[in-house]
Amino acid sequence: MQQWTIIIRVILFMLLFAAATLRAGAPVYVVLWFDTEDYIEPASDDAALRIAHDLAGLGVRATFKVVGEKARVLEQRGRWDVVRALALHEIGFHSNFHSMQPTPSLYLRDLGFVEGAAEFERREGPGAVDLQRIFGVRPACYGQPGSSWAPQANPALRRMGIPVYLDEGSHVGLDSQPFWYGGLLHIYNMGRFQLRAPLDRSETAAKSNEHFDQAAAELRSRGGGVISIYYHPNEFVTTEFWDGVNFSKGANPERADWRRPHRRTEADAERCYGVLRDYVAHAKSVPDVRFVTAREALELYGSPAPPAVERARVAAHMAARQTFLVTETGALSAADMLLSLLRMPPEVVDGPATRIASTYEGASIPRAAFEHAKADAVSFIRGNQRLPAAVWIGSGKLSIGDFAATLAGAGDGDAEVLVRRANLEFEKYFSNEPRKAFDWPIHPEGFSAPELLELGKLQGWTLKPARLR
Ligand SMILES: [Zn+2]
Repeated sequence: MQQWTIIIRVILFMLLFAAATLRAGAPVYVVLWFDTEDYIEPASDDAALRIAHDLAGLGVRATFKVVGEKARVLEQRGRWDVVRALALHEIGFHSNFHSMQPTPSLYLRDLGFVEGAAEFERREGPGAVDLQRIFGVRPACYGQPGSSWAPQANPALRRMGIPVYLDEGSHVGLDSQPFWYGGLLHIYNMGRFQLRAPLDRSETAAKSNEHFDQAAAELRSRGGGVISIYYHPNEFVTTEFWDGVNFSKGANPERADWRRPHRRTEADAERCYGVLRDYVAHAKSVPDVRFVTAREALELYGSPAPPAVERARVAAHMAARQTFLVTETGALSAADMLLSLLRMPPEVVDGPATRIASTYEGASIPRAAFEHAKADAVSFIRGNQRLPAAVWIGSGKLSIGDFAATLAGAGDGDAEVLVRRANLEFEKYFSNEPRKAFDWPIHPEGFSAPELLELGKLQGWTLKPARLR
């Protein structure tokens, strides 16, 4: 009898333990963001206010990515009610002028990495400064207008003190989850984890909820992750986009000639607010789901600082392929590993600014010449916070990829270092479709920017998955 009691107790305990494990599932974080950009139709101000209030009522904090000109217009219109309501959520930055020409991809396509970063800061920086003045906070994140993406934004954003890149696009992506790139936490290219309940009724509420539940269940089973949901306040009050009616195909009318977009009826706007409210309420009711802002997401993922990993493991990986390495304690980018192989302390650096091919023809490098090359690489990285495009071996050059592979494969005592060729595996995480990736009604017709995708790939040295702490 006593034995039976013990067995039953053990079984009960195991059942309770299993139930507790299932209940405390992996966390699913939802980043809900609003591109707050329409500075033409004043009804969009009211839409932002209404959404901010509705979400506060549901106990949800969202991220409002505000355009610099939108913030200035709110100030001019005396809409401090809107400013205060948005500031209770989180403020992000959505470019200085959004769709006024030229947009970022257009003005950065013909510029190099360093010059482009300075130009981005010159054009966009004042918008972030205005946001800070009007909202009283430094924006937590940035996302480009439309598909007007450019990798030169990354170093500029770091200098501007903006640590997160929050948007959607196909230019770069990693497993449809957050990643580190250019020293910024990217919530980008989220694939099946980028969701929304469509306002245009192209899908029933039940179907939208079902898609959310499926995404949440998949993330729970994978140990947690992020779902990205976005809208524009203007969508709730107009049937066409404010910029489409003014700045399409590269058009740039003067302010006096701006047209206002077509309005939804009051009843239709109410219906749209209802779609959002019901969707957010549903998401919030799903077990283990938590809404977070961009800054809270950054806290969850920590910093891009790499974990300490044995040198032999790093060398074996980098000799074979230059791409990130995922370990039990975190991920290292190819740049992290190159610094570690050069015995440099970890720091955020950019990838090379250009692509330079190797000209060094020998099959091996004398040890002394290789040590000079290493010292020169260290000096360049220290001085520029950027990887060199190539490293000199006397009067010949090794591309940074060939240099990294050679360094990783070099034995400490070798009198001659065998030259190895690069295998830049990280390049597969970038789009190869320069037209499709930049497709946006506001760009000039047929706009294509292979130069920006190439520059983006060069920055793939800094790419690695982000890991929940
Ligand atoms: Zn936008």
